Amino acid sequence: MRKRVYVAYTGGTIGMKRTRKGYEPKTGYLQEQMEGIPELRHASMPSVTVHEYEPLLDSSNMTPRQWLEIARDIAAQHDDYDGFVVVHGTDTMAYTASALPFLLDGLAKPVVITGSQIPLCEIRNDARENLITSLMIASGYAIPEVCLYFGGKLLRGCRSVKVSASGFAAFDSPNFLPLGEAGIDINIRWELVRKPGRKKRVTVPELGTPVVSALRLFPGISHEHVRNVLRPPLQGLVLEAYGVGNGPDQDAEFIAALEEAAARDVVIVDCTQCLEGRVDLSEYAAGSALARAGVISGFDMTAEAAVAKLYYLFGRGDSPAKVKREMQRDLCGELTP
Ligand code: ASP
Repeated sequence: MRKRVYVAYTGGTIGMKRTRKGYEPKTGYLQEQMEGIPELRHASMPSVTVHEYEPLLDSSNMTPRQWLEIARDIAAQHDDYDGFVVVHGTDTMAYTASALPFLLDGLAKPVVITGSQIPLCEIRNDARENLITSLMIASGYAIPEVCLYFGGKLLRGCRSVKVSASGFAAFDSPNFLPLGEAGIDINIRWELVRKPGRKKRVTVPELGTPVVSALRLFPGISHEHVRNVLRPPLQGLVLEAYGVGNGPDQDAEFIAALEEAAARDVVIVDCTQCLEGRVDLSEYAAGSALARAGVISGFDMTAEAAVAKLYYLFGRGDSPAKVKREMQRDLCGELTP
């Protein structure tokens, strides 16, 4: 029996058409391009249902509303397909790949997010390989996780980051080994793959509209700016700090701004600006001052995963105390405590 894969097509370069304004997604165009790829009709390939979203988006326009739409779509189709491929723009792909694992509770089948740097309609492209291999992984490998496949690497979605604006190896997961690699063979590191939960059904939570934000520190950042960002109704902030999580502890107003916000139950999560490594707020005085002000460690979480997780936790209505606890706990493979 041929395997069945559901393709959730959200937009992105991969299916775009060249127009006078530049590349743009066009209704029906991805399917048209796919019909021109004979390999997709090979007996070893799954049968594919493409569901095109309306409107197709350049992923720069994605919001958490689309994360939920994708999650609900996959949950509704979960029992009828062997796997799922989410076709997505690369710009915010790591955010969607980070959010979906939180939203798809009980996921028991592979969800592979992919896209490309050059669209399928161009002769020289990375789209064909990314799409074919994603379909093979989604149909042939029992990985009950949200993954991101790009440029030969299969990454855990909630560990992924976009690392290149122009290279074909555009994604990486610097704090977690790839779940697999596609070279001559497709090799999966099965020891890293999460076990499916015991839930019988996939459920997607009802989410409110929480107010979360991210702030990247830079030398000379003004405490007024920090205070403004932390103003009500903000509920959670990902603070992208230096190195192991440090900040300007000699700026008393900066520390006071954090302290006041934390006292108002704003959850401030410290993530590092570095691509690799983890936060340790006890290593330097410039870190422990933040911890004393009420900032919590994001450990080795990416800023993308931390934003998605704050959105998910506050969105489902957790209290600030619970959000603080859950942010420091591994929920779906996003952090190493
Ligand atoms: N701007 C495009 C997008 O994110 C880039 C891409 O898909 O590579 O939709």
